[in-house]
Parts: sequence; C-alpha cells; structure tokens
Amino acid sequence: MNSDQLFEKSLQFVPGGVHSPVRSFSGLKTTPRFMKWANGAYIYDEEDNKYIDFCMSFGPLIHGHANLDIKEKIIEAVERGWTYGACEKYSLELAEYMVERLPFADQVRFMSSGTEAVMTALRIARGYTGKQKIIKFNGCYHGHLDSMLIKSGSGLAGTATASSAGVTDQTASDTLVCELGDLSELERVFQENSGDIAGVIIEPLPANYGLLVQDQSYLEAVQKLCQNNNALLIFDEVISGFRIGFGGMAMRTGINPDLVTYGKIIGGGMPVGAVCGRRDVMEKLAPIGPVYQAGTLSANPVAMAAGLANMKKLTPEFYSDLNDKSQNIRMVFKEWFMSGEFSDYHIKHFDSLMWFTPTDSVINNPRLIPSNSGERFAELFDTLLKKGVYIAPNGYEVGFMSSAHDDKVCDDLKERLWRK
Ligand code: PLP
Repeated sequence: MNSDQLFEKSLQFVPGGVHSPVRSFSGLKTTPRFMKWANGAYIYDEEDNKYIDFCMSFGPLIHGHANLDIKEKIIEAVERGWTYGACEKYSLELAEYMVERLPFADQVRFMSSGTEAVMTALRIARGYTGKQKIIKFNGCYHGHLDSMLIKSGSGLAGTATASSAGVTDQTASDTLVCELGDLSELERVFQENSGDIAGVIIEPLPANYGLLVQDQSYLEAVQKLCQNNNALLIFDEVISGFRIGFGGMAMRTGINPDLVTYGKIIGGGMPVGAVCGRRDVMEKLAPIGPVYQAGTLSANPVAMAAGLANMKKLTPEFYSDLNDKSQNIRMVFKEWFMSGEFSDYHIKHFDSLMWFTPTDSVINNPRLIPSNSGERFAELFDTLLKKGVYIAPNGYEVGFMSSAHDDKVCDDLKERLWRK
C-alpha cells in the first residue's frame, strides 16, 4: 500500500489518522507520507521516495537518524531486558553526567516525555511555594497537559481560557497568559495576583510558534520579577536544551532558573523527559517531599542508554561543527529562496534551528507573524516535498539540523532544490 492508501486506512482506526495532530498535514496539499526507514539526514517513505529530512522527529535526533553509536548502546541495553521497574545504573550515570555539567542543577528526575516534565515542574513550583497560579506566555508551547492548553482571554492581560475542549474553567483560571517581550504586562499581572504566583514558565528560546528569539535583558528581567515575588522561574528547554550547547539557554544566558525541563535530545530519540534544579526545590519530590510524581516506564534502561550515548557525544567541538553545517545548509536555502517563486521567504535561525517565514522583519512575538504564512507555507511545503526535501508539515514548526547534515547532504540539497 502507498502512503495515500495507508492514510485512508488509518483514518478508520485512528482519530484523524494520526497519533499527534502536527503529523496530520492539515491545510496541506497532500496526505501524510508514511515513513518506512531513516538513516543519517535521510528519511524514506513507503513508496521508497528519499527525502532530506529537516523535521528530524521534531528535534531529538541531533546526531541524525539511526546513529550507529546510539544504536549499539540501545541494542546492548535491550539484550539485558528493556524495563525493570527498579533502580539500574544507566539512569544514575545519565543523572551524574548531566548534573556535573549543568551549574543550575543539583538533581534530576527522569520521566518519559516533555509534557510529563513540564507537569512535574509546575507541580513542584506549587508545592515549593504553596501558591496556585502559573504564568505562561502566548507563543510558547509546553506540552499537552491541561494547565498549559490555555490561551489569553479576550479581556484583560493575564486572563486566560482553555485552548482545548476538555480543560476545565477552574484549571484555566490557575494559568495566566502574558505576551512575550512585554515586561510591563508581566509586572502588572504579578501585581494584580500578588502573593498567588507559584511560578513563571517560559521557553527561553521559543521555538514552537516560529522561532521567537527573546532579548537577554528581557529574560533577565523575568527572572528578577520571579525573585522579587517569590515565584519559581521554569525554563522549558525541551527544544533548546542540549540543542544550542549542552547547557541550553540557561547556560547561554547565564540565568540560573529554579527548574529546567527537558525532552527530545535527552533521550536520543527514545521517550525521555526530565526536570532538574536546585536540591532544595527538587527534594520537594516524593519519596522525600510532598509533591507526588511517578512512572512505570520512567528512566527505563533502553531509553536511558540511548540518552547517555547521545549526550556523551555532545562536546563543544560537536556544537561548533553542527553550527557550521547548519550555516552551510541555510546558505543553500537562502540562495534558493532568493532565486525563485519563494523570494518573499527568509530564514530566522538560532544555531542549528531554523524557521522559514515570508518576512524579513524581526519576529519575537506571535502577533508579528505575517497573516499569509499558512497559505504560503502550503505552497512551499508541497514544492519541497516534490523535490525530496522534508520539512515539518506546519509553517509554525522550526527545522532541525543534525551532524548528519554534512557537505554531501548540502550538495545533494543544492542539486534537489534547483532540479526542474
Ligand atoms: N515543551 C516544549 C518546549 C516542547 O517543544 C514540547 C514538545 O514539542 C513539549 C514541552 C512537550 O514535549 P513532549 O511532546 O515530549 O510531551
């Protein structure tokens, strides 16, 4: 069966035919491709079409698909059984490896997804401060937990309503939504909810609604407000963590958040999430503290072995090489954009993350994203797919480069883009 037939069948058995909405090719000109295998920078569909992949499973695969070093460690771990529900050494080694390298972390707790990591961080913030409300920002995504599926209310700044059916008004009322980059609004929301704010959660490098790079001074001011109001600052680094250097934005900015959440790269493509922070904050977690968190498959040895192998390859030299490769790839896209029907497109980037958008203006807030982005993206996606270049099937998702996107891939990209 080809991808179209498989998708048709999938629609019968799976809501919308997909197990995560962003895979649905909604608003695009084709049905989702069913992928069969992947290696390095390439992914192959059921029809044996070969694509250069810039979606890269939405971020975990910083060393490319099916990296041999990681594969070897996964196989080694599988041979010993794949879950014990008991203590084992891989997770200890990964915890030690991280904590030794992250100055803001004394302890880490592993779980199985970024969503779980965020859910846990928010619960710790409430348990630690004894307060209820959390501030988040428009344009930041933090996973699919109820309290983060919240958008700004239509009324005053800081009000909020659920952005998904099934989220109660009560849950929505515990989350306050502010605009990225607007410090005075954040100050006002803190004032109006004086004594109620348990924490502020932010993607310090927002990369889920385009790439909305924030000023260092703004992030510092957010931290100051948290400190002045006895609220915890949570950096959600599910994308930026280990992507823009081992220490992510926390280390890049020198800001020591109270808690940091991770996902994606930390598991090397296996399901891992993590929350880390200072000892006094982390020790609020059960079994020693009152904040409950658990997981049958948390820190399972196969995922931990993959994560460990992945992370041990993340040296300073690795990042410098990755950034060089990313720049080469960007140059090819840039030239191609300038040369033809997508000359309105520009590339926003931060190290090995990139985002194609039909404007040259600075965008640090979702309100600044051009209104024609959706329809232009459908054209762009379709054109690239036909050329054998696979990007995330949504114009608000960023592109991910990996160390597998080397000179050969760069030449191949050039050839594909200009091929008639
Ligand atoms: N936080 C951020 C910043 C994310 O980008 C994501 C997922 O894309 C999540 C949380 C949720 O992670 P997961 O999809 O692993 O649950």
